[in-house]
Amino acid sequence: MMNEMEKIQEWLTSSPMLSILEEKLQEARHSANHALANFEPILVVVASISLWITLNFARHIACSTYNFFADRGLKTGSIQLAVGALKMIPGVSNYIRKEQNKVIDKLQSNMKAERECWRTELPSIGLGPQVIEQLKAEKSRDKKWQGKCSGAVYIGGSETEGHFAMLNEAYSLFAHTNPLHPDVFPSVSRFEAEVVAMTSALFGSKHAAAGGQVCGNMTSGGTESILMAVKSTRDYMKTTRGVTTPEMILAVSAHSAYDKAAQYFGIKLRRAPVKEDLRVDVHAVKKLINRNTILIVGSAPGFPHGVIDPIEELGALASKNGVCFHVDLCLGGFVLPFAKKLGYPIPPFDFTVPGVTSMSVDVHKYGLGPKGTSVVLYRNHEIRKHQFVAVTDWSGGLYISPSMMGSRSGALIAAAWASMMSLGEEGYLESVRKVMNTSQKIQKGIMSIPGLYVLGKPDMTIVAFGSNNMDIYKVNDVMASRGWSLNALHRPASVHICVTLQHVDVVDDFLKDLEESVKIVEENPGKFEDGMAPIYGAAGKMPDRGTVGDILVAYMDSTC
Ligand SMILES: *Cc1c(COP(=O)(O)O)cnc(C)c1O
Repeated sequence: MMNEMEKIQEWLTSSPMLSILEEKLQEARHSANHALANFEPILVVVASISLWITLNFARHIACSTYNFFADRGLKTGSIQLAVGALKMIPGVSNYIRKEQNKVIDKLQSNMKAERECWRTELPSIGLGPQVIEQLKAEKSRDKKWQGKCSGAVYIGGSETEGHFAMLNEAYSLFAHTNPLHPDVFPSVSRFEAEVVAMTSALFGSKHAAAGGQVCGNMTSGGTESILMAVKSTRDYMKTTRGVTTPEMILAVSAHSAYDKAAQYFGIKLRRAPVKEDLRVDVHAVKKLINRNTILIVGSAPGFPHGVIDPIEELGALASKNGVCFHVDLCLGGFVLPFAKKLGYPIPPFDFTVPGVTSMSVDVHKYGLGPKGTSVVLYRNHEIRKHQFVAVTDWSGGLYISPSMMGSRSGALIAAAWASMMSLGEEGYLESVRKVMNTSQKIQKGIMSIPGLYVLGKPDMTIVAFGSNNMDIYKVNDVMASRGWSLNALHRPASVHICVTLQHVDVVDDFLKDLEESVKIVEENPGKFEDGMAPIYGAAGKMPDRGTVGDILVAYMDSTC
């Protein structure tokens, strides 16, 4: 092994490619230093990112060259070696680190200014009930999200009235309960069981085709539901099929929570491309299946473009290959069953589809429950059993809990129950009718704005749009300056709005602002370089994702 590595290092360091690379790097370094001296601070960030593109492109070439040889039998540890070799060029590694630190410092210094007055110790004398005044003061500094945010707040109306107020009351009634103690709080146990039962009934649990065994639990959100489904599937497939190096297959558009699950639970993640209609390419999924595959994931719909993957085809593929199949209904769960009833052409997505083994359904999105509520469902108890962790030898006694958390909030469960019970089927039909109508209006409106196009054919209430003749991120920046908080997407560059009840009465304002923003960017294509647009643009295009990841980590590290 050592010998082989030495040989490759020798080859890399003696290659004439390296002197060319070094030259290029020097050039990049000089031109960047020159540029940096003249630029505004925010542009330094952009310049640094562009410089990374150059550096990382060089790194990318080194990696590809290495891969070329690796694929032809020169196997070793990993492409790290090639990257490592490039970094051995005198000064390169230091230089890369320095450039990274510059951007990170910049991000942190913006933060630091904000945080100078933040408290770092307990007040020596407590504020008592007066603290509520401080809470109100802080809250008043938050952004005015009413009607202006993509997704985020799904309930309609004002925060102090109607459904909001009812949830707050339900929450405060149960604020101090904990379902970890069912003997003390049987009320909460009942609410949880009923939320799960009512939710599963929306997904065909009572239909004979579902098998009569559908079960599940409440979790803290879509991510935890996904984590639980993946963990249960991993252990179920290990027990029943002996898979010890598990892999899962999902579309490039499937939610980032699966990356989290893969990293947490040691599973290899294989991303399949989407077709022109932005739905996963089933043929590509089929080709990725091997004896380590434990799970296929389909989204109904996916977060970026709001289109539903071919659930029936994926289910058939999973059945045929004896692997599990998770349908991600985090976003669509409390819309699709009702949209179907309202007559929208919604393809099959539930437990009546053969092959579906688990689902994640968020109550805190279109279920109109409080933030922190979701449901994970399984076709049967055999799979679900692997979700639980039982501890028998702890000196704290016998212990079992269903999901990631130990102690949980009974208040969230009670408020989720209250949401479902207070709305009932009629209530959800009404709210889905409103968001579907609003989404259709927004789609039509966007399609009539010259320069914009809608990505794919949205099945539901997420409308993604892009442009062929201008920087869509700049349009997003102008929208942001008007108070709109939309989601920037990449690959391809686009922006989306996830339509909620907050948007029902502001469709016209939205479309008017969007049309004007497009005009402004069209007339001033060189402007708006100081917003987020250059950052999104560069981050989407960098060939080396490791560097982009490093920035994200450093950013997070500086915020909490
Ligand atoms: C929101 C969402 C998730 C993750 O849910 P969180 O509640 O944010 O943890 C997963 N999948 C899809 C499709 C989603 O829209």
